[in-house]
Amino acid sequence: MKNIVLASSNPHKLDEIRLMLNTDKISFELAPPNFNPIENGNTFEDNSFIKAQCASNLTHKYSLADDAGLCVNALNGRPGIYSARYATTQEEKINKLLLELSNIPYEKRTAKFVCVMTLCNPNGELIYQSKGEIEGHIIEAPKGKNGFGYDPIFYIDNIQKTMAEMSMNEKNTLSHRAIALKKIIKFLQTNYF
Ligand code: IMP
Repeated sequence: MKNIVLASSNPHKLDEIRLMLNTDKISFELAPPNFNPIENGNTFEDNSFIKAQCASNLTHKYSLADDAGLCVNALNGRPGIYSARYATTQEEKINKLLLELSNIPYEKRTAKFVCVMTLCNPNGELIYQSKGEIEGHIIEAPKGKNGFGYDPIFYIDNIQKTMAEMSMNEKNTLSHRAIALKKIIKFLQTNYF
C-alpha cells in the first residue's frame, strides 16, 4: 500500500479525498504541523507544486497538493491565485467581489473555479499535475448555505443552482477539485495500483 501525504493541514480535504478515492491500496495522511509552504508562485501550477514539494521534503513520502481559486473574466481573472487573500473574512471577500462587479451585467459576469493538483515523489520531484475547471456566473447576492468560500455567489447555469445550494455529494461530482482529483486517481490507478 502506498502512503501519500496530503499537502494541507485541512482535515476536510483529507475526508473529501478519502471519500472520492474509495480504495484500500492508497492511504492518505495530513502534512505534519511544521508544514508551512511559501506560496509565492505566479500560477495555480506553481503554488500547487510548491506545496507538494514542501510536504515531500518534510516527510520523504509521496505527496499530493491542490491549489484553487476563483477567476472572474470581467476582472481579468482576478482574484485567481489571490482568492484566499482577496479580503479578510469570507463575507468581506464576497462583498468586495460584488462591489467590483456592481456595474457589470449578468451576461458578462462569467467566472470559473480552477483547481490544480500536483503529485510529487519522495524526493520532491513533480510526477504528475492535473487541472479541473468549472464555469459559472457570479450572481448579485449570495444564495445557499452549503459549501464554503465563494460558493454562495457562484451559479452554475445548467444545474440552476449556486455551489452553496448543492449538497456536498453533488458538489463532489462536478467541482473543479473533483475534476482534478479524478485525473489524479486515474494516473495513480494506471501507474501505481
Ligand atoms: P485553496 O487553494 O483550496 O485553499 O483555495 C483558495 C481559496 O479559493 C479559498 O480560500 C476560497 O476562497 C477559494 N476557493 C477554492 N475552492 C473553492 C470552492 O470550492 N468554493 C468556494 N471557494 C473556493
